[in-house]
Amino acid sequence: MKHNKVVTNNPNQTKKLGENLAKKILKNGPARKAAVLGLFGNLGSGKTTFLQGFGKGLGIKEKILSPTFIIFRKIKIPNQKNFSYFYHFDCYRIKKQKEILELNFKKIISDPKNIVAVEWPEKISGILPESLIRLKFRFVDKNSREVIIE
Ligand code: ADP
Ligand code: MG
Repeated sequence: MKHNKVVTNNPNQTKKLGENLAKKILKNGPARKAAVLGLFGNLGSGKTTFLQGFGKGLGIKEKILSPTFIIFRKIKIPNQKNFSYFYHFDCYRIKKQKEILELNFKKIISDPKNIVAVEWPEKISGILPESLIRLKFRFVDKNSREVIIE
């Protein structure tokens, strides 16, 4: 994927980026393993906002909320024969990679029917796949965020 750096000037623009990426992943179809997104960036930089648009792009009707206190959420991707579940991990509170491994992370990211998003991926850097789609979020000012998609 070509490197792509944009500045969004409101939350909806950030959601739209997420929506477009989700549609692209659905259109490309399944790969050998799950599509895994790593969302880097400080608190409030727009990671969850991006994933709200991403969920919409996957056709998910329910609102994507940050799973900070439950670590991850599994949501059915509707009306897709090649994709089954969207997994949303938030590793903010993770202290050891083992905590994520115990949630079957390896199995989840090896199933091509899954689409997986990980907030705070740096907390589990040793177990991320090589094919990770890296997204970097940066606070610019109150209503602007820089988003880099690698
Ligand atoms: P994170 O998940 O990175 O902690 P959130 O997406 O939960 O961040 O929060 C981002 C906050 O910043 C939200 O309150 C959102 O409304 C606000 N915001 C303001 N401008 C933007 C923008 N351009 N893109 C994304 N969020 C923005
Ligand atoms: Mg978040």
